[in-house]
Parts: sequence; C-alpha cells; structure tokens
Amino acid sequence: MIVMKFGGTSVANFEAITRTIFIIGGRLDQKPIVVVSALSKVTDLLYRISDAAASKDLPQTKELLSQLRQRHVDLTSELLSQSVQKDEAIERVNELCDSLEGIAMAVCSLGELSDRNKAVIISTGEYLSSTIISYAMNAKGIRTKWVDARTMMITSESYLKGEPDMNAIAAKVPGVVAEAYEGMDAIITQGFVGVTSEGRPTVLGRGGSDYSASLIGMAVDAERIEIWTDVDGVRTADPRYVPNTKSLEQISFEEAAEMAHFGAKVLHPLTIEPAVKKNIPIYVLNSMNPSGKGTAILRNELIEDGVKSVSFKENIRVINIFSTKMINTSGFLRRVFEIFSESKVSVDLISTSEANISVTVDSSQNIDPVVAELSEFADVIVDDDKSQVSVIGKNIVKLNGMLKKTFTPLKKCNVYMISQGASFVNISFVVDREELNEVVCDLHHHLFEQPEELETF
Ligand code: ADP
Ligand code: ASP
Ligand code: MG
Repeated sequence: MIVMKFGGTSVANFEAITRTIFIIGGRLDQKPIVVVSALSKVTDLLYRISDAAASKDLPQTKELLSQLRQRHVDLTSELLSQSVQKDEAIERVNELCDSLEGIAMAVCSLGELSDRNKAVIISTGEYLSSTIISYAMNAKGIRTKWVDARTMMITSESYLKGEPDMNAIAAKVPGVVAEAYEGMDAIITQGFVGVTSEGRPTVLGRGGSDYSASLIGMAVDAERIEIWTDVDGVRTADPRYVPNTKSLEQISFEEAAEMAHFGAKVLHPLTIEPAVKKNIPIYVLNSMNPSGKGTAILRNELIEDGVKSVSFKENIRVINIFSTKMINTSGFLRRVFEIFSESKVSVDLISTSEANISVTVDSSQNIDPVVAELSEFADVIVDDDKSQVSVIGKNIVKLNGMLKKTFTPLKKCNVYMISQGASFVNISFVVDREELNEVVCDLHHHLFEQPEELETF
C-alpha cells in the first residue's frame, strides 16, 4: 500500500486533476490511498468567508460563497462532461456548498465565529475537492471509494490546530482502509481534516495535508508516502525567492524535518515524525513533471554529509531577557521556559550568556502574556521585523570552512543571534527583515554555486 498526497496546485483545475488521475492510474498495483488538499487558493477563500461572516458583512459573504460554488460546479461539469454521474456529482457539490452557506449565514447573523465553526468552514475545501476527484476517478474507470477522514483522523480538542492522537489513528485507520478497499482500485480521503474522540470536527493547521498523508502512511505501514506538489522535489532553497536552486536527489529525515521546521514550505513541519516511526520513505514529486526523479527522504544513515539547503523564516521576533538573578541560579531557565510553555508560545532558537537569554519566536504568535510575566523578574526587550536564516545539512557543523562560507556573505549586515543545533544539522542566525532577500541569495550563491568543495574535519 502507498499513500499519494496531492497539494492544491496538483488539483487546481481540469488539466491538473486530469494529470493527477493519470498519475494515480499508473500506481493502482500498489494500492494507493489518495489524500487531497482543497483546490488551489480555496482554503484562503474559506478564511475570507469566515472573516466576512464574523464581521457581519453579508454582501461580501454571499459574493465569496457564490465564487466558491461556481468554481466547484464548473469544474465538476467539465470533469464529468461525458459521465452519467455528472448530475449526481453536481448535486453533491451543491449540498456541500449549501451546508457551508448555512453555517456562514448563521455566523453572519450572530457576528460570532467559534473555532469549532471555523474548523467546519475551512475544511469544506477538502470535502469538495475529494468528492469531485472521486467522481472523476470513477468516471475514468478507476473504482474509487471516498472515505471521510473524520472516521479515522483523531485529534485533540484544539479545533484549528488539532494535535493528532497517533495511537488512536494507528488503531482506527487500518480497519477503515481495509473495509473501504473491498472491491476497489483506490481510495480517496481529505488531507487537513480531523475529528476529536467525541466526533467534533477539527483541522490540523495550515498546510496540514502533508501531515495527514504521513499519519495515514504510518497507520497502514505504507511502503512509501508520495507528496505530489508543484516543484521538482525539495530544492537547495525556495525557488520563488532564490535564483538557480537545484533539486536534491536524497535527503535524510532529519534534514527534511529541520528544513520544514525552519521555514521551507514544501513540507508541513510535522510530516516527517510519523514516517520516521515506521521508517517509511517519503518522496517529494512534481505532478507537472511526473517522470522527474523528485527527492527521496530516507533514513539518516543512507545520506551523505554536506550542506543541503538554505531555509528562512521571514517574520520573526527576538525576545531578549536580561537578569542579574541568572548568575548562579539553577531554576532561572526553567522558570523562563515554563512561562513560554504555559502561554503556548513556541520557541525556535535559543542563545544564552551569563546574564542574558535570547529566543526567537514566529511573529504570528501572541507574546504579550509572556512579556508581561517575564517583566516581573527580568528586563525584556523585543526586537521586531527580524528574519531567521538556517543553513541545513548532515554534519555541516563539522565541515571545514563551513562557518567561513556561511558568514562571509554576511559581512555587510547585522547578525543578531547565532545558534547551532546540537545535532550538527543546522546553523541559524537572525538578520534584519529588510536584508533577508539579499542575505539568502548571497548565501545560496556562496554555498551552492561556488566550485570548491568543503572538507570534513
Ligand atoms: P502544495 O500545495 O502542493 O502543498 P506548497 O505551496 O505547500 O504546495 O509547497 C510547495 C512550495 O514550497 C513550492 O512551490 C516552493 O515555492 C516552496 N518551497 C519552499 N522551500 C522549498 C524548497 N527548499 N524546495 C522546494 N520548494 C520549496
Ligand atoms: N488546504 C489546507 C491549506 O491550504 C491544507 C493543505 O493544503 O495542506 O492550508
Ligand atoms: Mg503544502
């Protein structure tokens, strides 16, 4: 059995879905479990619908709902133009849109949007795409069973960022999949979508379909997990920002996890964890170039040392905590990190000196309660408008000349914080946000476009 996950661009329109179904058709002997995202940009549209409804903007809510319905109905007609199931498929799409409209209208009249309702609204994209693609696959002669992810993807009660219950998922998924597979060539389900153990809808957070695929792969002991997207595998940097990036043939689980965690959008940061548990290889492939090799993400031992990529997080903050009480006190760090943990603010980089701790956090997080509590016993200075850059690769910290290569292009700019992971896989530092683009492009140029090799100590 294999898991094949198709992201938004791989299911964006008639051409993309036709290509995707062709790719799936070539893998039927491997019993695919297909996991799909919403059509490209649909989740963003659903967020806008939530916002419009919550602010009681009825005309805008109706306009956006009608755009959503039109796009999905048109696509269904196009994909099923020759099929006897066309009317049934359109009816099903309309039912999903009606149900969404019902919730959006209720929210609009109250002007109140709970996280629970928001989870239902934003997961509609995956229900629509999986329904349409399931009909289209059947119309192409692939006997496909549509499976509701909410029968198996158990998460915590956090409606908008449900934490998967790995044990419950591992217990549920194999039974649901085995039953759905009876007499079928393939099954299809929604990425991103989850459910609490009491049956309340949740989602896994933005970009969560990769994570869904990996969780399902773990639960069924899949032979491989394929992440189909719009680039030729994992590259040396984000090709949207950096010229001359190269595709990586193989990287390790650890390198991929660090890249994703430190900003490479190509994979959801938690995708690697379930796959590692069962040592399942992940392949990142391009649905617009299906014969390309893509990138294999494999066990650490199979991967060579060396620098693999430059990742970045554009919008971060540095929180500097100063206290003379730190000197010779053992409980200080514990107290500081308890405060972060209680406010659920997650920390990326940490650096400490005798009387100072600096940490970085993503700017999307609310740090006000943390700053207020820390200020009770320390001086706190928050630096905004910063970016974090990470150079990632197995054992790079041990490579001769690596630090020089990393820091040479930075001669001209301020570096606020440097951190090097104990696992030797990354060197990260903080720069001004306005200098990010230049820093990343120069760094990529120095590391990947200069001929001389780096030697291991
Ligand atoms: P999907 O909709 O298929 O999940 P995403 O947009 O989430 O696709 O992820 C693919 C995008 O990730 C690419 O278009 C690319 O711009 C971006 N990306 C960021 N870093 C990298 C990287 N190191 N290698 C490849 N792609 C990257
Ligand atoms: N559709 C969701 C999003 O856009 C999940 C995903 O695509 O992975 O965030
Ligand atoms: Mg994605």
